[in-house]
Amino acid sequence: MVKKYVLVSGGVISGIGKGIIASSTGLLLKTMGLKVTSIKIDPYLNIDAGTLSPLDHGEVFVLNDGGEVDLDLGNYERYLDVTLTRANNITTGKIYRDVIERERKGDYLGKTVQVVPHITDAIQDWVERVATIPVDDTGEEPDVCIIELGGTVGDIESAPFVEAMRQFQFRVGHENFALIHVSLVPTIGSVGEQKTKPTQASIRDLRGLGLTPDLIACRCEKTGLDEGIRAKISMFCHVQPSQVLAVRDCSSVYHVPELLKDQGMVDYLWKRLNIENTVTITPALKEKGADMWKKWNQLTTNQERLHKSDAVKIALVGKYTHLQDSYASVVKALEHATLALHKKLVILWIEASDLEPESRPVNPLKYHNAWRDLCSAQGILVTGGFGVRGTEGKIAAAKWAREHKIPYLGICLGLQIAVIEFARNVCGMPEAHSVELDESTTTPVVVYMPEISKTHLGGTLRVGSKISYFQEGTEGSTIRKLYGGGSEVLERHRHRYEVNPEMVDKLHAKGLQFVGKDETGQRMEIIEMADHPYFVGVQYHPELLTRPLKPSPPFTGLILAATGGLQQHLATL
Ligand code: GLN
Repeated sequence: MVKKYVLVSGGVISGIGKGIIASSTGLLLKTMGLKVTSIKIDPYLNIDAGTLSPLDHGEVFVLNDGGEVDLDLGNYERYLDVTLTRANNITTGKIYRDVIERERKGDYLGKTVQVVPHITDAIQDWVERVATIPVDDTGEEPDVCIIELGGTVGDIESAPFVEAMRQFQFRVGHENFALIHVSLVPTIGSVGEQKTKPTQASIRDLRGLGLTPDLIACRCEKTGLDEGIRAKISMFCHVQPSQVLAVRDCSSVYHVPELLKDQGMVDYLWKRLNIENTVTITPALKEKGADMWKKWNQLTTNQERLHKSDAVKIALVGKYTHLQDSYASVVKALEHATLALHKKLVILWIEASDLEPESRPVNPLKYHNAWRDLCSAQGILVTGGFGVRGTEGKIAAAKWAREHKIPYLGICLGLQIAVIEFARNVCGMPEAHSVELDESTTTPVVVYMPEISKTHLGGTLRVGSKISYFQEGTEGSTIRKLYGGGSEVLERHRHRYEVNPEMVDKLHAKGLQFVGKDETGQRMEIIEMADHPYFVGVQYHPELLTRPLKPSPPFTGLILAATGGLQQHLATL
């Protein structure tokens, strides 16, 4: 079977939206009826993103198979509505480990093992192998694989990958490989002149390394690219003007696919990759794709039509709030739920430690602002996280939500926090704590899971897709109804600690309901507060499975409760 590859590389600076452009390209091809998969290459040495701080690279995304990967894989899953595997995220660490293991086994038959050809071959083999893994409900091999190369071309780290891709274009053939290079066209000075030099330089680097851009996607300010600038880039970068795409700043990233389509991206790739004559698209997939595009457009139009009066204020209490990429999926999940309910999302970012009384004398303004935001929020979300900083602030937020009957959603650590707060303030256990946060606590309500390694951090969490079972007698539970009323839910996990099973009865007696547990009945997965409009905690991360057109139920519940529509919604189920 012929497979098409679209490589997306970046130049000038990192963080210019390569991931969004790559996933939008995939989405456009999918809406034409093609089966699309994707690979993200991260040239760092880590084996996976699992040990990276969210402040370094943004959130760690978790896949069904437990792969801890770059957050861009989240974009691909959401845009393309696919399920990826850990192998879809390639890092330098993974490739070297592979090659070194083979060298130790003697697979190279006495040869000197080198970056070229051994590392570059391993990269190409990996890409070819992963591109065949089925990713959607067709269960069939994808037609197209989008490969996003992290970092910028010219970095020392990405050099072996660039060389591998240079060779790869010949391995798979010209009509099966296209390259989109994402560049930056900054506007400088008081007259607002657009500058093409950085793009010229980066294309020169690219060509020097043996890669020829088919499309140059230029990130630029709101007004787009001036015609003269497009012509200039075309001339200096040796492409047709139609191969220069303007990707201007948009009010929402959901507009990017449309922006690319309007500039002829699909038509160009169709011809360039000779899809008409080499790929068979079934009428069913064609129809499904067209329907997907229609719904996508509805979504963007609806978003444009939202008014100030549709606003819903959600406090997001976390500890990495100054790097919002740390909560990329949570934000997406909130966005999807609000969009589906025709509401306009306003996130009040609250750094948990600012809520703590100790911060008041140090920085009274921050303290007061944090509390003002918390008190004015219609819903409160306490995010997942690791480590002790901000714990007491999160506990204060959970207490506020419980006592003032403000809708609350606790994710992973957010569930554990709610349990600690409840134990301390309702069950009369003032010393209640998590052993993660206070190792010597006399009242451990959250404990280390027995099967988890204490010495190795990488790849040792309880991670990946696991089933939670709704317990007997929970038919009336709000969260169960939001999930459709079934007896189980399949969601992705990433944690090391759990609610202490020995404490469950005491907590339950006071009104904290453990509506969902794992298959052993010993591990608490979902909590719900009796006598509260919406107070839900989940040990898993529901934000990892949200889709623009299929929001995640716990988030839908939060937004519904925050806007006063929950009871009415439940009555219609
Ligand atoms: N630190 C907690 C644990 O390991 C919560 C993890 C999380 O929120 N992802 O259990």
